[in-house]
Amino acid sequence: VTTTQPDPAAGAAVKAADRAHVFHSWSAQGLIDPLPIAGAEGSYMWDYEGNRYLDFSSQLVNTNIGHQHPKVVAAIQEQAGKLCTLAPGFAVDVRSEAARLIAERTPGDLDKIFFTNGGAEAVENAVRMARLHTGRSKVLSTYRSYHGATAAAINLTGDPRRWASDTASAGVVHFWGPFLYRSPFHAENEHQECERALRHLEDTIAFEGPQSIAAIILETIPGTAGIMVPPPGYLAGVREICDRYGIVFILDEVMAGFGRTGRWFAADHFDVTPDLMTFAKGVNSGYVPLGGVAISAEIAATFDKRPYPGGLTYSGHPLACASAVATINAMAEERIVENAAEIGEKIIGPALQDIAERHPSVGEVRGMGVFWALELVRNRETHEPLVPYNASGADNAPMAEFAAACKERGLWPFVNMNRTHVVPPCTVTETEAKEGLAALDEALTAADAHTV
Ligand code: PLP
Repeated sequence: VTTTQPDPAAGAAVKAADRAHVFHSWSAQGLIDPLPIAGAEGSYMWDYEGNRYLDFSSQLVNTNIGHQHPKVVAAIQEQAGKLCTLAPGFAVDVRSEAARLIAERTPGDLDKIFFTNGGAEAVENAVRMARLHTGRSKVLSTYRSYHGATAAAINLTGDPRRWASDTASAGVVHFWGPFLYRSPFHAENEHQECERALRHLEDTIAFEGPQSIAAIILETIPGTAGIMVPPPGYLAGVREICDRYGIVFILDEVMAGFGRTGRWFAADHFDVTPDLMTFAKGVNSGYVPLGGVAISAEIAATFDKRPYPGGLTYSGHPLACASAVATINAMAEERIVENAAEIGEKIIGPALQDIAERHPSVGEVRGMGVFWALELVRNRETHEPLVPYNASGADNAPMAEFAAACKERGLWPFVNMNRTHVVPPCTVTETEAKEGLAALDEALTAADAHTV
């Protein structure tokens, strides 16, 4: 990796302009201190001071192919020279090809692709399609989930960010998904957790009225909320319930899709086909904003003679689609999905289990591929989290100290509530993974200091 020459004065200028004019997501604007980044390549990024960071966050879990992949950069440059933009109503080579490559990889008959600019818009449109297809209004979604920050998507989200939503959650009903470590059902094993979670979903449907429910939306493996791999049989059980009541099954693969779990889609691990599947992030590693909905033949047919009342000026943007074509082709040619599976199985999984044995702050290790979470706890016996739910300020100090300890060691972690996620690019090498895991191992000592 070639880093640029340190230039602290340039970094200071970037930061000053940022603080004067950039309004940041999810932040108290006066309390943040964004790090100016000078460049990035592969699994690394570097600042203006000469510090290099191994990116174990893949930014927001989107750079599945790493930074500045030369084939993707070249495809964007080439497309920019040919045709930068074209309205969604025209047929254009890179859009057709991106749709074909995606449809070829999505499960079952999810063969029509509606393009958006990102994940939240994909969720908005999937929900709209489900409501129009069924003529019903309610959507069921789980607690401990994240689906995006636009109107419907934030209401579907099952975490505290929904609390400040400016629109009431009209038509959204939350239920509990399976999560044995903090079982909402007081289950003792995965089989029990699965059975009880399915019964709870059936009860929720019975009390809401099956004929009023348009869709159930789930992240195949909830990501932001803690990478909770569902127990065997759960997703198949939800599929069966949806079929029984004529409810549209939406799987949100915005974070788990495109190689992250060591398969093209997380759904591939569970042999389940939803009616609608949302994607974004890994589809082109976020080099140009892109997301979309993969649509089943039956739902697509609803809009054969009747117009679909939705669209976006930049739907299927040529630069975004060209980068998706290049990303998917590079992932196939360079066996990047296979790399994610192998690194997860051989390096990350075993190393995290070993780390968990040696650090009292690690309550549980969960995941697969390059999609792992460490649940950090104050007390291993009681599972009391290292910081309270939705902690901020002084309450969040143990997690802030741990994150700082990672950064001091050149590791950029993904930290959320009482968890740290190990989510490097799917291209991460064995050497890089070991380097990052060694830094994580050391940094966890900062979390251990807060255990009882
Ligand atoms: N759905 C899931 C599962 C996500 O993880 C995210 C983002 O993290 C979204 C939807 C929203 O995507 P975006 O931020 O691109 O709107």
